[in-house]
Amino acid sequence: MAQTRFYIALGMLVAVIGGGAYLVYWGLGEFASAKETARARIAELESDLARTTEENEKLSRDLIAEQAKMADFSAQIEDITGEVGILDRLQKTDKELLQKYSRTYFLNEHYRPSRIEEIPEEYRFPPKEQEYFHKQAWPFLEQLLESAKDDGVILQVASGYRSFDDQKDVKATYLTTYGTASNTFSADQGYSEHQLGTALDFTTPALKGALDGFEKTEAYTWLTENAYRYGFVLSYPKGNTYYQFEPWHWRFVGRSLAKELHHDGKYFYDLDQRDIDEHLVDLFE
Ligand SMILES: [Zn+2]
Repeated sequence: MAQTRFYIALGMLVAVIGGGAYLVYWGLGEFASAKETARARIAELESDLARTTEENEKLSRDLIAEQAKMADFSAQIEDITGEVGILDRLQKTDKELLQKYSRTYFLNEHYRPSRIEEIPEEYRFPPKEQEYFHKQAWPFLEQLLESAKDDGVILQVASGYRSFDDQKDVKATYLTTYGTASNTFSADQGYSEHQLGTALDFTTPALKGALDGFEKTEAYTWLTENAYRYGFVLSYPKGNTYYQFEPWHWRFVGRSLAKELHHDGKYFYDLDQRDIDEHLVDLFE
């Protein structure tokens, strides 16, 4: 009897232990599978996150690309505006002002500068005779005259703008006096740079309005060293093939071209017209 109870108890114990073990086994299994599920979920989240990050990066890249495109576009608009400005300036700039004149290319007899301005008396010689200069080029000439004065050099304007008819008269006087020899030192009417309004002849008080002897003056030396800063160049240097050497005759060609010529040791008539024309846009800068 007692043995029977012992076996029953043993049986129950075995059943309890077995059940417990099974429960533990089952529990562990459940835990493992929950862990698997969680791991899978984490992996899924991680991959979502990676995808989202990638999408974000792509969006950022797209945004940067868009911004670059916009910047490009604004730059293009600026370029176009700039080009329109340049074209506009070019259109308004008188191309004759940077032309080389020769016996085959000359100014039309009807040519007139757009606007001329009277040169103040204090800068003229003789002061009683009115002289004119191109209105837009005048401020540069005025600066030149004032700057020379600051350096103790007095320059005077003997002749500025000359119309076709004035030029004809000058030429006629020369022809009467010197005959055809005058061709080498007086431009035939029609291709005198004076008709542009941007060329002039300088003199000094010591010369009393004369041109002869100008080469020996300190005024001439000053001009060869400084005139380019104000956009002026010597048109007919020594040994040029156009006219005789005219140390008194200077032409306004704009600061950018004058500086280039000065630094390269060249003269206006040495250059190709094409290279000269590139400076048209900066003529009055
Ligand atoms: Zn002259």
